[in-house]
Order: sequence, then C-alpha cells, then structure tokens
Amino acid sequence: VSRPRQPGRAHDVVVIGAGVVGAACAYYLAQAGLAVAVVDRGPVAGGTTGAGEGNILVSDKEPGAELDLAVLSNRLWRELGQDLGPEIDLEPKGGLVVAAGLDAAVGLTDLARAQGQAGVVTEAVDPPGLRQLEPHLAEGLVGGVFYPQDMQVQPMMAAAQLLRRAREMGAEVYLHEEVTGFLTGVGPSVEGVQTAQRRLPARMVVNAAGTWAGEIAALAGVALPVLPRRGFIIVTEALPRLIRHKVYGADYVANVSSSDAALETSAVVEGTAAGNILIGASRERVGFDRTPSPRVIGRLAAQAVTLFPVLAEIRAVRYYRGFRPYCPDHLPVIGGDRRVAGLLHACGHEGAGIGLAPATGRLISQLAAGRATTLPLEPFAADRFEPAHA
Ligand SMILES: Cc1cc2nc3c(=O)[nH]c(=O)nc-3n(C[C@H](O)[C@H](O)[C@H](O)COP(=O)(O)OP(=O)(O)OC[C@H]3O[C@@H](n4cnc5c(N)ncnc54)[C@H](O)[C@@H]3O)c2cc1C
Repeated sequence: VSRPRQPGRAHDVVVIGAGVVGAACAYYLAQAGLAVAVVDRGPVAGGTTGAGEGNILVSDKEPGAELDLAVLSNRLWRELGQDLGPEIDLEPKGGLVVAAGLDAAVGLTDLARAQGQAGVVTEAVDPPGLRQLEPHLAEGLVGGVFYPQDMQVQPMMAAAQLLRRAREMGAEVYLHEEVTGFLTGVGPSVEGVQTAQRRLPARMVVNAAGTWAGEIAALAGVALPVLPRRGFIIVTEALPRLIRHKVYGADYVANVSSSDAALETSAVVEGTAAGNILIGASRERVGFDRTPSPRVIGRLAAQAVTLFPVLAEIRAVRYYRGFRPYCPDHLPVIGGDRRVAGLLHACGHEGAGIGLAPATGRLISQLAAGRATTLPLEPFAADRFEPAHA
C-alpha cells in the first residue's frame, strides 16, 4: 500500500512530532498510500509520550465527541496489537471505577448508562464483586462499574513501533531536527517545513507537536491555545501482581473534565505486567515547571493507600512527571485549519493522547487522502477558539 516518495519530489505530508500522535498519523498516512515524512527536534517519544501512563480508556469519558473518538481508537488499538507485535505490551486488562459513597455511586451508574448508549460495555459491580475483581481494595466501598474495554499499552514502545511500521511502508523519519518555519505559498498557506538542516516541501503539514503545538501554529501565523497541564506518576517497586486492573475513584472523571488551574488529585492505581504499580493522577496548570513536588507526590500516595491499604507497606522507587497538552474545552484539535491552507492539526489530547492516537491518525489519513472521515471533525476544529466562534 505504500508509495515511497520519488527522489527530489515533494512529500504528500510532513508530520511535525514523533510522539504517539505523530507516529500514529504517519502509520495511517503511509498505509493510505501517501508519501510521508516525520520530523522531531528530539528522539521518538521524547515529549509527553515518554511521560504518559499508557491507559487506553473509554471509562473516563462523558458521552460526546471525545468518547466517540475513544471508542473508535479502542477498536483500532486492538488491530494495532496484531500488527505491531508484543513489544508494545498491549494489555486488555479492563478498568474498575469505584464509588466510596452513595452519591458517587448514583453518578457513576448514570454515567455508565449514558456511555452504554455510545457503544461502551459496562458491568455494574456490587461490593462482594469488587473484592473478587480486586482482593486488596479498601473495605466500605459501596459499588463500582467494570469497563472490560479499557486497556493499557507501553506508550514509548507503541510510538516506536508505529514509526517502524510507517518506515516499512515508505515513511521517512528525521529526528533531532527542529522545525523552525514553514515553506509558504500564495495567501495564508503552508507548503512544507523548514528545519535547521533542510527544506521539506509537502502538499500538507500535520502539526502533531503535542504541548508545543501552539508554537507551531504561531509559526504558521495562527493562534492555537494548547497549554501544559502537569501530572505526576509514582512508580512502586516490582511485586507479584497485587492489583489486576486499572482502578480509580468516581471523582476522577470530574477532575479530568475540570478547567481549574489549581492542583487536583484523585487516586488512580494500576498494576503492570512488569510488577510495578503506577499511582496517579494529579493535574495542575503551572506552566512547564519541572520542580519535584513532595506535596503532590505525598497527596497521591495518601489517596492510593486509602483505596488500597496494602500499598502502605510498599516502597515507591521513583516518580516522573509530564505536561499534558491541554485545550480549554478538553477536546483535541484534529483536522484541517480553515485559516491556513495545507495545515492540519493533530494535537491537544491532554491526558488521553495515548488512547486517542490511532483514531486521530486514521481521521487525519482519511482527510489527507480526500476520503470521508469516520467521525465528524467539526467538534475538533482549530478555529473553534476564535472569538467569532466562542
Ligand atoms: C503523567 C501523565 C500521565 C498520562 N497518562 C496517560 C494515559 O494513561 N493515557 C493516555 O492516553 N494519555 C496519558 N497522558 C497523556 C499523553 O501522554 C499525551 O496526551 C500524549 O503523549 C500526547 O502525545 P503527542 O504525540 O501529541 O505529544 P508528544 O509526545 O509531546 O510529542 C510531540 C513531539 O513534538 C515535538 N516537537 C515540538 N516542537 C517541535 C518543533 N518545533 N520541531 C520538531 N519537533 C517538535 C516534540 O519534541 C515531541 O516529541 C498522560 C500524560 C501525563 C503527563
């Protein structure tokens, strides 16, 4: 299916960014038969993809455009699991959302019912059922919902394998080359990119620069409000599998969709195949501040122990942090930019970019190939933040 570029000819598409989203775009663009180049100023997955947890969730999304994207992506990840091989550690372990009180339980049941209408499989779980699924859960939880479609993947390996397959289909990859400007045409348009080392002419350019996508948009002369939203993850020592699923409290969904800049935390705990337990999740808007925060890490640890008391006995060995690419309405930006001919965006996925990457790549490839898109792109339009639309 691939169509390698003729030497000296322009590419069909240049993708800026070799994170999981850019890699997925390259994979599906190459699969659609387009001549693709990927450019990144760093290594593969050197941005937020290297700091993500790897959950592929349908459970934490309210019905609407993002959930539709997540349901499509969930199906595509299963296909990718076959094509990319075992290196990506795709684990269909399922997610368990638990309610500590009656109000939370009612809210969770309502959410699950609405998600069910959007194609999400949900299973109500009573307190004895909770303990069967997760024997180490705290006492006193009033119930929960199990989401069998939720999965996990190793994000860096997934990005690397997507790019490997894209290269096998003819894509070119330029790493450690910063995009410093656009090649432009008549009127507001882009016709390729300029890097520190070369010019890469192309019919279209995809902005998959994650948290830095606003800077790329600015190079093309348009505004795009993608902002960093910091998150910390604690990693425990490796243990025999104590925690089998991804487990989180019902309050997490509210935190994800909140636009508060101040610190928000909720207990999100999961075991991994390697035996380490990952503990999140914090969200705060503090720019690109990389300073370790004992306050945030302490709060995450305390919340995790409330959910799984057994964790009090277990050592944390490290933490990491990253900057989610956040848009003010929590939706990604996907599709052509009506303000600049030839410019497409695939960015702003906040805390769901690993999960949503394949659907994003598939939609971008359909658009670039001039085909109908599987989902409508209007909710993800880049100009939705312009004052006229707001
Ligand atoms: C703590 C934490 C936990 C998370 N957990 C999950 C999770 O469980 N599930 C999930 O789905 N998501 C999760 N996320 C979010 C997820 O990691 C991101 O949404 C996703 O990685 C974004 O991928 P991306 O490819 O858009 O961006 P990135 O991976 O940041 O890639 C963008 C790339 O663009 C490159 N770039 C930028 N500017 C230029 C330039 N001028 N020239 C060339 N290259 C450039 C950068 O070098 C970078 O490699 C988490 C995030 C954090 C911080």
